[in-house]
Order: sequence, then C-alpha cells, then structure tokens
Amino acid sequence: MKPGITALTLITAFLFSPLCLANKGPAIKDYPADKVADNIYVIHGPLGLPDSGNQGFMNNPAFVITNDGIVAIDPGSSVQTGEMMLRVMAKISDKPVIAVFNTHIHGDHWLGNQALRAAYPDAPIYGHPNMIALIEAGEGQNWADRLEQMTEGKTAGTVVTGPNKTVDHGATFKYGGTTVKIHHYGKAHTTSDLMIEIPERSVTFLGDNVLNDRIPRIDDGDIQGNIGTITQILETGSKVYVPGHGPSGDAGVPESFRKYLDVLYTTVKKYYDEGLSDFEMKDQVAGALGAYAGWSGFEEQLGKHISLAYLQIEAAEF
Ligand SMILES: [Zn+2]
Repeated sequence: MKPGITALTLITAFLFSPLCLANKGPAIKDYPADKVADNIYVIHGPLGLPDSGNQGFMNNPAFVITNDGIVAIDPGSSVQTGEMMLRVMAKISDKPVIAVFNTHIHGDHWLGNQALRAAYPDAPIYGHPNMIALIEAGEGQNWADRLEQMTEGKTAGTVVTGPNKTVDHGATFKYGGTTVKIHHYGKAHTTSDLMIEIPERSVTFLGDNVLNDRIPRIDDGDIQGNIGTITQILETGSKVYVPGHGPSGDAGVPESFRKYLDVLYTTVKKYYDEGLSDFEMKDQVAGALGAYAGWSGFEEQLGKHISLAYLQIEAAEF
C-alpha cells in the first residue's frame, strides 16, 4: 500500500463509489393482493423465469390475517420482494407478522425472508428440516447468486435468511382462532416441500408441487412422488388451492398439473418399453402433452422432464 493511502481512505472511496451504490438492487413496484378467501390474500407474481424485467419476482407470496396477527407464506426471491410484500400487507392490515412459512428450498420462494425478519425479528420462520440442511450445505447462497445473475443484479443486497424453526407433516398451529396445518408426503417437487392448509377457510397452499399456466423445473424432484403428493393433498377437499406459480383456483388446478405429470410419465414409459431413447421420443411426448404447450416454460423444460422421467422409469425397473 502506498504511503498516504490509509484503510480509511479506501473505505471512504468505496462508500461513495458506484460499486457500493449498486450494492442493493432497486425496489419492486407494488403488485395487487388478490383476496382468495376471507382474510387470505395472494400476491400472484408474473409468470416466467426470473429476469431483469420482473426483478426476480415470479412466485405467489401469500398472507393469512388472524386475530393474533399475520401468517406470511413464501415472501419471494429477494429482499426487494419481501419489502414489497410488507408494503402490500400494510395496505390491508395494520397487524404484525407473527409467523412465516417457507414451502421449499427453491430460492425464488423464500429469499425475501430477510425483509420480514428485519421488520419482525421475533416472528419464527418455519421450513422443512431438509430445507434447513440444504441451506447449511450452501444451496441458499447458490440460489441468491443465481437470482442475482439472472436478474442482472436487480436482487443485489439479498442476504440468505433461512428458516429458524423446523416443521414437518402433521404439525398444527393455532393463531387467534385460525388453524394452520402442515402437509408433507415425502419427495415430490423437492425433498423439502411443505403444503399449508387453512381448514376453517378451506384454502391450501401447495408450493411448487403444483403450478398453473407454467411448467416448473423439477430437476431435484420425483415425478411419481409429486403425483402421489397431489393425490394426498386433494383429500383436504379444499375449495381454493394456491399453486407456487400461476393463478389460484379450485381442485381443477392441482388435478390439471397432476395430469401433466401423469401423461409425461406414462408416455415416456410407453416409448421406453418400445426401446426408444429419451431424445427419440421427444416429438411423441410433446404431442401427448399438447394441452400444456401454451404454458410458460413448456419448450425449455420438456427435454429435461423427459430425461428425468426416463431415468426414474429406468431406476424403477431395478
Ligand atoms: Zn420450486
């Protein structure tokens, strides 16, 4: 270091440099909160992959207003999304956030925890034990880095803030007379999926076990497990189902996505049995899934989904 350039000079220079000013990405505009049942709202995010235009916001953050306070679900992909969720909640209720639930390890659903933790440090954040283990193994930081890259820095400033409480299948909470019931049926979309049922209002949050109008990446999932999970959760008989991405609706929403997975698996199995390789059957599988060709991400994910189904069929043979 040259004489005269002290550490303080360097720190001062950094504080006023464009590098530091660029350290936090811009705020996200407020999206509407859609009322899906009494005191239950979903901020339905835009469809598509995270990019500079959507600033990484493309999931369905949701909140349940109870007599004791607000239960928040999946506050999105970044500190900016979490801050947007706080602003949107404050327009509807002046109650504090008293608990946060994360549906799975994919960072587009939970990196916004950071903003909720900053505003409500005492509110526990719940996740599946496998989610917490994956974050400890570095998966949370991988997601933060991936999102910052995909959004060209729009999510910058996001610090990995994982759940601090574990929760698993069958857990039930009571918040001011409102029940929150947790469902987990093994490996499905990931190994860490939680589905959240509000029985009194007949609403169930599905995480990415179900998408609507968008095809998910299921690289770390199990197709048969995902089909089974959807069948199990339909037994709640809920009136409203909230998918991880795309519009909420009735039982038709999970049923439609289950059909996608089922047609994918059975069609790949048919051509597997005929001796075709995964890339040789792509046109036939695309044809069988034609009803989903208009869903966002269909083209990008189809080849990967066929390969995944092929591997899982092959594994099931042994
Ligand atoms: Zn996911």
